[in-house]
Amino acid sequence: MFDKILVANRGEIALRVIRAAREMGIRSVAVHSTADADAMHVRMADETVCIGPPASSESYLSIPAIIAACEVTGAQAVHPGYGFLSENANFVQIVEDHDLTFIGPSAEHIRIMGDKITAKDTMKALGVPCVPGSEGGIADVAAARALCDGIGYPVIVKATAGGGGRGMKVARDAGELERAFLTARSEAKAAFGNDEVYIEKYLTTPRHIEIQVFGDGKGRAVHLGERDCSLQRRHQKVLEEAPGPCITDEERARIGKICAEACANIDYRGAGTIEFLYENGEFFFIEMNTRLQVEHPVTEAIFGIDLVREQIRVAEGLPMSFTQEDLKINGHAIEVRITAEKLPDFAPRPGTITQFHAPGGLGVRMDSALYDGYRIPPYYDSLIAKLIVHGDDRDTALRRLNRALGELIVDGVDTTVPLFHALLQEEDIRSGSYNIHWLEHWLETNLRA
Ligand code: ADP
Repeated sequence: MFDKILVANRGEIALRVIRAAREMGIRSVAVHSTADADAMHVRMADETVCIGPPASSESYLSIPAIIAACEVTGAQAVHPGYGFLSENANFVQIVEDHDLTFIGPSAEHIRIMGDKITAKDTMKALGVPCVPGSEGGIADVAAARALCDGIGYPVIVKATAGGGGRGMKVARDAGELERAFLTARSEAKAAFGNDEVYIEKYLTTPRHIEIQVFGDGKGRAVHLGERDCSLQRRHQKVLEEAPGPCITDEERARIGKICAEACANIDYRGAGTIEFLYENGEFFFIEMNTRLQVEHPVTEAIFGIDLVREQIRVAEGLPMSFTQEDLKINGHAIEVRITAEKLPDFAPRPGTITQFHAPGGLGVRMDSALYDGYRIPPYYDSLIAKLIVHGDDRDTALRRLNRALGELIVDGVDTTVPLFHALLQEEDIRSGSYNIHWLEHWLETNLRA
C-alpha cells in the first residue's frame, strides 16, 4: 500500500484526488506554483511543496520540479489529474525510472493514444468502429484532394497530435479543402510542434458519446457506460450527462463490450475514455483519453463508485473492486462546468471571489476549489467549479440542477452560471434533443441577438 502520493495538479481535480487519498488513509502531497500559495488544494493536502513560478511551463509542467518534490517528501506515487502532465508518456517513463509509481496507464499506451493516427489504427485493429477517413497522415494537398473525392464532402482535417479542440478545420466542399488543409497543418505545427494531419469524413449532426473504461493492467477490463458530452462550444464540453439520453441499453451493452474487450486485449491499466461520434445509431471512434476526465463524476454518480480510489488501487497492483456484472446504472446524473468567464464572448475573468456558497442537499455534488476571498490567478484554465446532480431519472436530475444552480452564490467575478439557467429553459435541453452543433447555434441566436 502507498503511504503517500503526490498530486501533480491544481484546482478542483487536485482536491478530488486528495479527498480520495485521505479516505484510503494515504497522505497527500500538494505541489503548487507561487501563484497558488493560497489555493485550496494546498490548504487541504498533508504536505505541500512550491515547485516554481506562475507559468505552468515552469511549475505544473516541470518534470524535474515534480520528481524533486517526490524525492523530498518521500511520496511513492504520482497522480497527474487531467491536463498538465497526465498524458505525457515521457513523464510516465521518468516517474518509473525514479522507482515511483504513475497512477495511470503505461507510457506505451499513453504514447499510442496520444497520436491520433496511431490510436485510430490501433482501435481499428481491435475491432472498434472508426470514422471513415485517411489511412494515416496526409502528405500534401493533392493527396488530400484524391482522398476527399473518394469519401465525399464535408471533411475535417485534424492534427494527429491534437487536443483541446485545436488543430481541426472543416472543408465543406472541394473549394475549401486546400485552405482547411494548410491552416490545420500550420496550427498543428504552432500548437503541438508536429504538423502531421489526417482527414475524416465530417459528420454533420452527431452526438458526442464517450465510453468510460477501466482496466487492471493484467487483461481484465470493464466499461462503465457512456456519457453524452454533445453540448460543446468550440469543441469544448460545457455540460455532460450519463446515461446518454438517446442511447438504448442494447447499444450501451454492444459498444461497451467492444471497448472493454479492446482494453482487456492490450492490458490497459486504470481509467480511460473512448470517445465516439454517434449518428443514426452508429458509433465512430474519434480518440481515446488515457486519464481521468473532467466529467468523470457523472459516471461515479450513476454507478456509485469512486474512480480515483480505483485508479489508486490498480496502481498499487490490487485487483479492480468490481466486475462488469456488479456495475448497474442507478438513475441519471448531469454535470455543468462553471467557468470564470463573461458572456457572451466567454472572455476569461480572473478576480477575487467576494462571496461563495456551494449548493447542497440530496443528490448534489460540488467539485470546486473556491472559497470566500479566493483570488483566481490569471495563469490557468478558467474552470472554477463543477456542479453535479444525480436523481432517479433525467427529469429529476434536471429539476435538481435548476434548484442547485439557484442556491449557488459566486460573487466577485463573472461566471457562466447564467448560461445554465437559460439552457434549462430550453425544450431541446429538457427533452435531450441536441447534437454537437446545438449549443453553437443557440449561442449565436440567443446571446448575439
Ligand atoms: P480534441 O482532442 O481536440 O478534443 P477530438 O478528436 O476529441 O479533438 O474532437 C473534438 C470534437 O470535435 C468532437 O467532440 C466533435 O465535436 C468534433 N469532431 C471531431 N471529429 C469530427 C468529425 N469527424 N465529424 C464531426 N465533428 C468532429
